Amino acid sequence: MISVTDVFKIGLGPSSSHTVGPMRAAAHFAASLARQQQLWQTQRVAVEIYGSLALTGLGHGTFDAIILGLEGADPQSIDLDSVAQRLADIETQGKLKLAGQQPLQFESARDLAVRYDEILPKHPNGLIFTAYDDQESAISRETYYSIGGGFIVTEDEFGHASETSVAVPYPFNNAEELFAFCQQQNLTVAQLVMANEMMLHQCSADEIRKRVTHIATVMQACVARGLTTRGILPGGLQVQRRAPQLAEQLQKLHDANQVNTQLWPMVYAMAVNEENAAGGRVVTAPTNGAAGVIPAVLAYYRRFHPLCHDDGVVDFLLTAGAVGILYKTNASISGADVGCQGEVGVACSMAAAAFAAVSGGSLKQIENAAEMAMEHHLGLTCDPVGGLVQIPCIERNGIAAEKAIKLAQLALLESGTHQKVSLDMVIKTMLATGRDMKSTYKETSLAGLASTLKQKAVTVSVRVVEC
Ligand code: SF4
Repeated sequence: MISVTDVFKIGLGPSSSHTVGPMRAAAHFAASLARQQQLWQTQRVAVEIYGSLALTGLGHGTFDAIILGLEGADPQSIDLDSVAQRLADIETQGKLKLAGQQPLQFESARDLAVRYDEILPKHPNGLIFTAYDDQESAISRETYYSIGGGFIVTEDEFGHASETSVAVPYPFNNAEELFAFCQQQNLTVAQLVMANEMMLHQCSADEIRKRVTHIATVMQACVARGLTTRGILPGGLQVQRRAPQLAEQLQKLHDANQVNTQLWPMVYAMAVNEENAAGGRVVTAPTNGAAGVIPAVLAYYRRFHPLCHDDGVVDFLLTAGAVGILYKTNASISGADVGCQGEVGVACSMAAAAFAAVSGGSLKQIENAAEMAMEHHLGLTCDPVGGLVQIPCIERNGIAAEKAIKLAQLALLESGTHQKVSLDMVIKTMLATGRDMKSTYKETSLAGLASTLKQKAVTVSVRVVEC
């Protein structure tokens, strides 16, 4: 069973699959060398980068993320202020510290091989790490796939990803089972997830509440930073950060009683995605490209919802997490795998379910909100201009946040029993649609807006965080 804390991971921008995942893969490989007592033998590490990671890696900070990961950096705890200097030092000295311990000669031009025209068989986001000894003999080799939302799996783990063997009280495999458990046990979705999380983490409800509240705090801080940070986003597209100015204008309308609360979630989401594009601290929800939707709807709930309370914040994230688990288990949350429907579409579905739940929605209404939110994202392609998570990603999160609230409100007006398409059906359809989608529309920047704007790949790095 996947945990909600796996769905909501604190990391760094701009991409969960292209920045967070590769950093985690590199750190995992370095740690495995340490575990096998092979660090001292290792004289060189070569990294081969395939498929979507190769095609959009430059714009997603993938290569820097790998270098930092080889030193043992962790996306959740890395000090973003020190990244620029560390990368500059590695480049100047031609040396890094493998797993934070073993000095190692490292030259990007020699040790990072970007295979633009090749895709590994199991997933478009593939990486192969090889460690060599002083005779240039390979002593360890591992293939990793970055499968979306910062999740990584090795070649052997593929297909059995991220599930722990801990028995939980309510082991749901699909939406039907989730809602059936809730009905039989007279539990809300959040209560059911809470029971599972307590077992998964072997801790009390208070501890889970503390962890989930921390996630909400990081989300809120990200919205706040995005609403006050101005400037141009890194990467060369010269995209202006718009959230602060939009928020000021909205606040003026608000103060003049010309309230347009409907636009706040749009601006909150843009604030988060501008932070993400600048390489800032974000919560993958369920990915970085789609990181704005859930914090925006949550911020709207906190500011404007008449029923808002602290426990509601926890219920919101637990409910959203349950829906995220359904997509992760039964489909995909990777833009490189199924297009943007698997990122922004999934985030919208999670947020709609959560908003319906904290508004007092029934199980049917929650399911209906989640289903509609995905139904109207089916077929959404991933075509980031210049390989950067900026156009169309930033505005797209805003639109999805607003849509999530509207669809939750629509669901609350009806019983939901008229529903012809179940949540399970739409999840299955999303996966099938993603499988039929041409790879040029799946995070390769080879079609769609990326092709229309004909912006060549530009460099954005995890070192660029000042914007
Ligand atoms: S278009 Fe969607 S899936 Fe693609 S990078 Fe942007 S947010 Fe992610």
